Amino acid sequence: MTAYLLERALLPSGVADDVLVTVDAGVFTSVQESPDIRGNWRLSGVATPDNRGNPRISGETCSVPGLTIPGLANCHSHAFHRALRGRTQRERGTFWTWREQMYAVAARLTPDTYFELALATYREMVATGITSVGEFHYLHHQPDGQPYDDPNVLGRALIEAAKLAGLRITLLDTCYLAAGIGQPPEGVQRRFDDGSGDAWAARVQGLTEQPHARIGSAIHSVRAVPRDAIATVAAQRGPLHVHLSEQRAENDQCLAAYGLTPTELLEAEGALGERTSVVHATHLTDTDIATLGAARAFACFCPTTERDLGDGVGPSRRLHEAGSRLTLGSDSHAVIDLFEEMRAVELDERLATEQRGHWSARELLQAATTTGQASLGWPDAGSIAVGQRADLVTLDTSSLRTAGTGRDENTAVFAAAAGDITQVVVDGRVVLRQGDGEQIGRQLDAAIGKVWA
Ligand SMILES: [Zn+2]
Repeated sequence: MTAYLLERALLPSGVADDVLVTVDAGVFTSVQESPDIRGNWRLSGVATPDNRGNPRISGETCSVPGLTIPGLANCHSHAFHRALRGRTQRERGTFWTWREQMYAVAARLTPDTYFELALATYREMVATGITSVGEFHYLHHQPDGQPYDDPNVLGRALIEAAKLAGLRITLLDTCYLAAGIGQPPEGVQRRFDDGSGDAWAARVQGLTEQPHARIGSAIHSVRAVPRDAIATVAAQRGPLHVHLSEQRAENDQCLAAYGLTPTELLEAEGALGERTSVVHATHLTDTDIATLGAARAFACFCPTTERDLGDGVGPSRRLHEAGSRLTLGSDSHAVIDLFEEMRAVELDERLATEQRGHWSARELLQAATTTGQASLGWPDAGSIAVGQRADLVTLDTSSLRTAGTGRDENTAVFAAAAGDITQVVVDGRVVLRQGDGEQIGRQLDAAIGKVWA
């Protein structure tokens, strides 16, 4: 058993001082506010982890200064897009400079370089307090479109990278069959294409879950998956994710082909429900919002990517009021910082509506923790409570950004940045310690250098 005395922690009941938590087999076994420390526990300072990442203590307590919050869920990731950061803004950085660079990276990756890039990217995520990632994985095959000897070698590389980085992964194996409605895949898109919905489903059967890895499914979009294959993907078990109405052109093409909005098409094919996450949900009709709300679908917003690509601002609050559940993702990894994503949801609404006060810090933290974890198939993660997975994310409350901000939910959402994280525990294991950032930076540099070499 391990014990942590948290100087300050965000519990389901609110922020509390001096919280003693005990952890056994990766799960919280007790959570006590203001315990009688002297009577029961001997303080040992911050514990030194052993070489497996476990705090080296027995019958003693690790004292954790700062504000500790539950583990964050990054519900929408394309790991290889991390190689694009800073490189797609050339000239003035149009949508086309972005897409050209994205396809260039997709064309170059090998199982080895993809593994190294994903490992470094997932370590960056861990360093920013992310304890689960939803990987929307669509790069499946060799550059000429032929399957590898192991047709899931790239998916397995992602699962292994997450394991080594120390976070949980939900591999959302993505069906991608068309360049656009009625258009065959071309160029690098052949790496994404399984040929049919049934062939996609047969390949995905070869993936197995692990203690840190769940398998889910994704429909890339209504552009990339023909109508008759949508139901095949939706019929799989586990979390189901789909890019939805990110840009107006997608809505126009869908209406022209089917006479339905993308939301209406997904509804008609049985793809909307409580395990569905619609990603972006930017350009919606009133009927779309009501439909997604009635389905209780998760709405995964990725504000830093949506602003980078010039997508627009989706109706986050209206979706919430209709019954949808907000989650967050860093998507293209132009930024990996869920603190920035949380506050961007509120700040973007302010710009769009010319009014303040749509989302509270508490609600945004819930989106980034319990709701996000549940959307990825980890309903037993996201709060510091008995029986939950032991994830602990600790923020420095005296940094340049956080000092004097009240050390509460508002510090986390409206002041903190990813660089304020000092320690991360996932499933009871210490996976990030203060000072690890420098080494992770070098690893990213090396991995991205190899991709572009
Ligand atoms: Zn995406």
